[in-house]
Amino acid sequence: MDKTIRTIQKNKSIALIAHDNLKSELIQWVKTNEICLSHHNLYATGTTGSYIEQATELNIHKLISGPLGGDQQVGALIAEQKLDMMIFFWDPLNAAAHDPDVKALLRLAAVWNIPIATNQVTADFIIHSALFHEEVIISIPDYESYMIKRGIS
Ligand code: PGA
Repeated sequence: MDKTIRTIQKNKSIALIAHDNLKSELIQWVKTNEICLSHHNLYATGTTGSYIEQATELNIHKLISGPLGGDQQVGALIAEQKLDMMIFFWDPLNAAAHDPDVKALLRLAAVWNIPIATNQVTADFIIHSALFHEEVIISIPDYESYMIKRGIS
């Protein structure tokens, strides 16, 4: 597929999600990094977002709860290029009713080339990267040429 570029601004839009068994781990990670995260636009699935708001001073754009469609909302925000990265503490040991939504979300993150962390150590590497605090140019699918090739301009 043809590619074009997109600029990820210094002030990033970040999705925060955790499966139930990982929620306390994500909340601890958010608390540890609260000052840094407070400079960014934060989104979260419903329950995760409510827990983060209870545990911190952060303002969160709360979406619908994940199993009820919140993961799909995050996917839509990625496809609309309104999200710059995703921290998703995903439970590798338990199946969830909304596993297809989770798989679709991870696929969209790959399509739109955004950084994703599915565990705490990767989240640490991302937040401590110099790139986290900078404007970054990324390559993304060229939707215009994709549509032209389908005869729709
Ligand atoms: P929740 O959704 O934050 O509403 O629990 C997370 C998920 O399981 O996808």
